Amino acid sequence: MATYDYDIGILGGGAAGLTVASGAAQLGAKTLLVESEEKLGGDCLHFGCVPSKTLIRTAQVYHAMKNAETFGLPFVEIPPVDFQKVKERIQSVISTIQKHDSEERFCKLGARVVFGSPTFIDEHSIRLNGETVSAKNWVIATGSSPGIPSIQGLDKTPYLTNREIFYLDRLPESMAILGAGPIAIEMAQAFSRLGTAVFVVQRSDQILSKEDKDMADGVMQVLSSEGVRFCLNASILDVKDLGNSREVRFKDKAEKINTLKVEAILVAMGRAPNVNGLGLESIGLEENRKGIKVDNRLRTAHKNIYAAGDVTGAFQFTHAAGYEGGIVVANAIFHLPKKADYTLLPWCTYADPELAVIGMNERLAVKAGIEYSVFTESFQDNDRSLAEGESVGEIKLVLDKDEKPIGVQILGPQAGELLSEWVAVLNGKVKLSTLASAVHPYPTLGEINKRVAGSPISPKIFSKKVKKGLKFFFHLKGRACAEGLHGRES
Ligand SMILES: Cc1cc2nc3c(=O)[nH]c(=O)nc-3n(C[C@H](O)[C@H](O)[C@H](O)COP(=O)(O)OP(=O)(O)OC[C@H]3O[C@@H](n4cnc5c(N)ncnc54)[C@H](O)[C@@H]3O)c2cc1C
Repeated sequence: MATYDYDIGILGGGAAGLTVASGAAQLGAKTLLVESEEKLGGDCLHFGCVPSKTLIRTAQVYHAMKNAETFGLPFVEIPPVDFQKVKERIQSVISTIQKHDSEERFCKLGARVVFGSPTFIDEHSIRLNGETVSAKNWVIATGSSPGIPSIQGLDKTPYLTNREIFYLDRLPESMAILGAGPIAIEMAQAFSRLGTAVFVVQRSDQILSKEDKDMADGVMQVLSSEGVRFCLNASILDVKDLGNSREVRFKDKAEKINTLKVEAILVAMGRAPNVNGLGLESIGLEENRKGIKVDNRLRTAHKNIYAAGDVTGAFQFTHAAGYEGGIVVANAIFHLPKKADYTLLPWCTYADPELAVIGMNERLAVKAGIEYSVFTESFQDNDRSLAEGESVGEIKLVLDKDEKPIGVQILGPQAGELLSEWVAVLNGKVKLSTLASAVHPYPTLGEINKRVAGSPISPKIFSKKVKKGLKFFFHLKGRACAEGLHGRES
């Protein structure tokens, strides 16, 4: 039997790689973790989720300060944002979380961490820092980088991506954001709230193109009302460096050429897999524009080499990367044929209001040719939401023809948190009637979940048939409002 230096080697110390490393090492597998940057943690910690959510919170507080009067408070003159201070807060949150993702921690768990740039030389071996290292199984978890579109002039124009945007020395006065996916939309609102004049330039007629249009439009309306300007149906012609400013030219739907002059350009037009230098072609591994090809057990063409996380191009979220890391551990360490299933993968766009989704939306149901029905509840009818000063948004429940829930979308305050109840309901196959009859504390935003769950049931409970039956058996007297106090015609 062939012998290898390690049971499992992992390339990439982000969400996917760290999940595999911690699982494998704790289960007693001799584990190597290779990271090409100076620190573990990956994009999520350094250039993604953590800095973006920290920035969003800062922008929320600043927005609330500017709008103190809407809460019955005195008007306050607010000085402009010092981005150095914002950056300091971002860095401090990152360094606190960094401790969970430190080399020492993984070493304590039993994994060997090595920093360097690995290259496959065969399906069991890599070259790393001048040495050859072998492992029985490998996991490619090298993540993704901002995809840079081929726009005329972009290569000669300074632009920002998610790698620079959280580390700016000062707040840009104006910014054109190319793209309208979750990263673009979150940054558009945060920077606009902090004081940047933001323009979102989007190819199609909708932002957040994976979402149902009505929900995405709901987000867009809020951002528009706060001052973000949207250029939809825009086909970008070119960009130009004008020295102290940049120019973006695009054609709109009416073929009119528009020009934006801005201080900064943020490119947020999708992601590209990090595969450069891995030597994948030399071992016959295929990748496409989106990522490395894997089967549903996340195995590549070589069954001992797995790929997980953003590098596969599937669902590019931290929780998806973590989930996939677990699938790899099940297959490579437990030798269980566990398959990845994304049917109930939730996600959230952290705009304010948030848009959180799980399962099928209407767009997907139509595409799949599924018979479905939709029930909605508005946050305007939720007492807590009104008390919080949050009246925008709704919950949308999608049911199949047997009235079983197949998807939920929530546009509203703390939608990401509210979705957790649906994560449990859908994964646990909990009946809607159970959720509808469960007592929820008053006043909470969560009551909206209970209410929408009751929507398909209440027409049946309060039907004419039921009323007729009750009248017959219990001699109920019927409507009272048109009668006098003693039950006679008024
Ligand atoms: C601005 C922004 C906001 C985001 N917000 C959210 C959010 O709120 N929620 C959410 O779920 N997701 C969010 N994401 C997505 C999330 O960050 C990614 O899905 C997640 O980081 C993917 O994890 P990963 O392990 O696949 O890749 P990564 O976390 O990127 O880790 C890959 C690691 O591999 C290393 N590496 C690269 N090449 C090599 C190599 N050749 N050899 C060795 N190591 C290598 C990298 O340095 C990195 O450390 C956001 C992303 C961005 C950009």
